[in-house]
Amino acid sequence: MADEKKDEAHGPDTWLTTLGRDAEASHGFVNPPVYRGSTVLHRSVRTLDEAVPDRFDTPIYGRYGTPTHFALQHAIAQLEGGHRSIAIASGKAAVLCALIAFLEAGDHLLMVDSAYAPTRRLCTGLLARFGVETTFYDPLIGSRIEGLIRSETKLVFVESPGSLTFEVQDVPAIAGAAHRAGAVVVMDNTWATPLFFKPFAYGVDVSVQAATKYIVGHSDAMLGLVTASEASYPAVTRGADALGAPAGPDDCYLALRGLRTLGVRLRRQQETGLILARWLKARPEVERVMHPALPEDPGHTIWKRDFTGASGLFGAILRPASEEAVAAMLDGLELFGRGYSWGGYESLAIPTHPEHARSANPWAAQGPCLRFHAGLEDPDDLIRDLEKGFERLNRTS
Ligand SMILES: *Cc1c(COP(=O)(O)O)cnc(C)c1O
Repeated sequence: MADEKKDEAHGPDTWLTTLGRDAEASHGFVNPPVYRGSTVLHRSVRTLDEAVPDRFDTPIYGRYGTPTHFALQHAIAQLEGGHRSIAIASGKAAVLCALIAFLEAGDHLLMVDSAYAPTRRLCTGLLARFGVETTFYDPLIGSRIEGLIRSETKLVFVESPGSLTFEVQDVPAIAGAAHRAGAVVVMDNTWATPLFFKPFAYGVDVSVQAATKYIVGHSDAMLGLVTASEASYPAVTRGADALGAPAGPDDCYLALRGLRTLGVRLRRQQETGLILARWLKARPEVERVMHPALPEDPGHTIWKRDFTGASGLFGAILRPASEEAVAAMLDGLELFGRGYSWGGYESLAIPTHPEHARSANPWAAQGPCLRFHAGLEDPDDLIRDLEKGFERLNRTS
């Protein structure tokens, strides 16, 4: 591809508009086409055989990807700062791909306690059934993770900030301890996207994106991406091969299209997210806002050291209120939708239950937890919507 070499001369927004494009190969059209297909016809048996070793990066069979996949994969690998990337059918399948790439029966896995709940269930369910033992660790453990590493520990999984509760992890300290013990470090980098956190610069070996969220960016496709360092790439290809769940080419196209506006969307969502977070913090109904870009947040120092921005997803803990009052607040919101996923252009608000998803430390907060996603609407309209929501909360409790 035209973008193969590292482009050190340009800034991140230039990268977002140029990576994964090769107009010459697309008859001059700006965007790569959608290749749909299973069989790839080869001129000879020899050229078919020769393509096999690099099958996730050259056309050989649809399950290993098409030039549409390769365009997206090249763009993401460069943005993350890794060697190669593989597009998988969903973010959850991408997490599974990264785990099965390295783990086998008898191995031990260290999983962050604030992981995305379905990731947690993969550990307690599928991996346990296949003989992999998981220890969940405190997201704020830092270099003290050394004390949990055993000779069978093969993989340390980080997700920063944590799902629902937004703790920021000391990724370089954790990666240092893991590497000294010969374990690989896998990170779920969905919240920051490669625009706001560069995993490979902080010691991560494999980075997972639920591209369903910000990269696709319009709530219209499911997609995962697994990006590997050069040393980890062979294992990741084995994981992807075993899984056999490639992303669809149309979804890769949507992700490439989303990538072009990722910078403008994320910066606007960061700004709106912070406006909402500060406004919420000042409300008497709110106990604490969980947003690492707020200076008083416990994760702020590390966030500022390692990240170049914040996306639009954050949490809030309310003062104790009944479930009915919270439902009245959220059900009546007109601009914030009630629904899973996030990263699209539309705002969302849902109740969350971190108390059900913890085992390293019990969840101490008494009041209900909410998760907000800032979309691209006018921030003043969003605030008026929330203001009326608090009126309903107060009327109901
Ligand atoms: C949504 C999400 C996933 C899973 O992605 P899907 O595409 O929904 O399977 C994984 N990790 C995080 C942090 C997520 O938010």
